[in-house]
Amino acid sequence: MSDSVISFADLGLPPTMLKALEALGYETPSPIQAAAIPALLGGHDIIGQAQTGTGKTAAFALPLLARIDPQRPGPQVLVLTPTRELAIQVAEAFQRYAHGMPGFHVVPIYGGQAMGQQLHQLRRGVHVVVGTPGRVMDHLNRETLSLANLSALVLDEADEMLRMGFIDDVQWILEHTPATRQTALFSATMPEAIRAVAQRHLKQPREIKIKAKTSTVEAVRQRYWQVGGLHKLDALTRILEVEEIDAVLIFVRTKTATVELADKLEARGYACAALNGDMNQAQREKTIEQLKNEELDIVIATDVAARGLDVPRISHVVNYDIPHDIEGYVHRIGRTGRAGRTGEAILFVAPREVRMLRAIERATRQPIEQMRAPTLHAIAGRRVAQFRQAVAEHLAHDDIDYFESLVREMAEENDVDPARIGAALAYMVQRERPLRVDGSTAPPPMPDAPAERPDRQERQERPARPARQEPPPRQRPAAMPSGPSWSSAVEQSEPEPRAPAAPRATPDIDPRATPLKDHPDVTMVRYRIDVGTAHGATPKHIVGAIANEAGIESRFIGRIDMFDEFTTVDLPSGMPNDLLQHMKKVRFGKFRFNMAPLGDDPGNDAAARDGSRPPRPRAPRSDAPAHRDGPGGRPPAGPGARRSFSKPPGKR
Ligand code: ADP
Ligand code: MG
Repeated sequence: MSDSVISFADLGLPPTMLKALEALGYETPSPIQAAAIPALLGGHDIIGQAQTGTGKTAAFALPLLARIDPQRPGPQVLVLTPTRELAIQVAEAFQRYAHGMPGFHVVPIYGGQAMGQQLHQLRRGVHVVVGTPGRVMDHLNRETLSLANLSALVLDEADEMLRMGFIDDVQWILEHTPATRQTALFSATMPEAIRAVAQRHLKQPREIKIKAKTSTVEAVRQRYWQVGGLHKLDALTRILEVEEIDAVLIFVRTKTATVELADKLEARGYACAALNGDMNQAQREKTIEQLKNEELDIVIATDVAARGLDVPRISHVVNYDIPHDIEGYVHRIGRTGRAGRTGEAILFVAPREVRMLRAIERATRQPIEQMRAPTLHAIAGRRVAQFRQAVAEHLAHDDIDYFESLVREMAEENDVDPARIGAALAYMVQRERPLRVDGSTAPPPMPDAPAERPDRQERQERPARPARQEPPPRQRPAAMPSGPSWSSAVEQSEPEPRAPAAPRATPDIDPRATPLKDHPDVTMVRYRIDVGTAHGATPKHIVGAIANEAGIESRFIGRIDMFDEFTTVDLPSGMPNDLLQHMKKVRFGKFRFNMAPLGDDPGNDAAARDGSRPPRPRAPRSDAPAHRDGPGGRPPAGPGARRSFSKPPGKR
């Protein structure tokens, strides 16, 4: 094709119509118009496949209008659309394009509108009818509409009509129109059922397929993850770990949620910032500036605060809370895929939000694919790749010359291969982010992905985790707990050394707590949580909350008994007091956990009296030793403890 711009006049449209187009401000035909108009003017059937907003209405309305004979009675063109809104829009478009055709009549007919008015307009004589399939069928059945003189029929948004269950009605209508008619079928997608309709009812159609133009939404790959409530944080940390992220914008619903989530991520070692309407302009600009110049990779925002945000390096948008409406969704995901780049949008969808997901899909006419929880292997694989790359990038660095001789010296001193020294260093560096997937080093399985859990057999065969001698670290990401040790997910202001003999806030052993099956050596304590089935909680919620908030792997969460008003759960002994205090404040919806060891729970007896469970004696203190890791097993904060992202350093 030549570079010269095609004009509407080149397409063979009559002068009156060109005038109307000029008045509307249309300068040049869109690609679908350039292809469809000559074909329809030439009397051919067509199949037009193009995304929404590509100008399909004019693509069929202009040529079909040009072929209308104003003197002939009865409707000459019928357009079927999936919704009444579209019927009205298309009818209005016809009216506008027919500006230079005096006496031209178009009528939209759709359900929900009084039949009488439509009848009146139909009787008055119309050239074009635009309607929804159901109402068109009604009129045909009542013989208030005759299509005997129909010369052209358009199926607009055929895939949408299929999706809405109108396809049989559409076929019925097709069968009740003259076989001599010209047919145009438009659809954003071409499912098999639509192809079948085309095959049956169109005559040697010209196929016109316009590649999706790269508009904001189209440049964004959209995925969703069915995860709700308390599991979302866990899902998010997995995403942060495995996705190829440059910068990520996370949307939540409220101002407080921006701060809360930022706190939780910081507690897990991610540098991030909140962006909300409570911040003044200068603060907001500073955060955005940091995001732009790569000082910051994670921003948690409200819709209002992120309005119009234009930072091309945002590679991911995470809809942590589902948006209120479709426009909100489109705006949010439009924050990525900017400046000709591609973007990723991930939507967290709770089971009760699935309807909203479908509504978004319908409105944006883009499928949103289900995301699979990253497997432990994927996470480990990515860590290994990042580790390799980071090391490789440092090999050429002048600064390592000194260390090279140091390593040689150490190898000689210890009479080991230098590789062994390298291995020790690698271990030190990666201790916090273990590179191998095994029972002692893997990140916690997602509650929503039970299939990813190693099976019991496998777990039992695993070697015990090496005991740790190092001084306790400040914190570690809760996404990677590494044993039944207690590590508070509560943000610590100060390093808090925990000697094995540190005073315990909680009883070590409740003799009624069942030992943990796979870890008989782990002593368990039974706790009570003031959230039960009456609050809508399920064991999954409880496990998720404890896993997320306490930073413990779900496999170290023991027996759970749920009652109407409360739940009991067995957890490894030695929970630090600060963590217990935090767990008291954790909420399931509006309901506070008020978690407490059963032994000190004053509500215990009352609950026992009301018969909802058997009475229990208070937990006696025990002298039995705590679990070997006790409360001291905090992994060290490696060099990357306050890491921003798990991305390879080379990307920065
Ligand atoms: P589609 O049916 O493909 O979703 P529409 O026919 O509704 O798209 O057109 C989308 C918008 O583009 C409308 O506002 C329409 O007026 C405008 N439009 C269509 N063709 C042109 C053109 N050639 N030049 C300028 N605007 C156009
Ligand atoms: Mg359209």
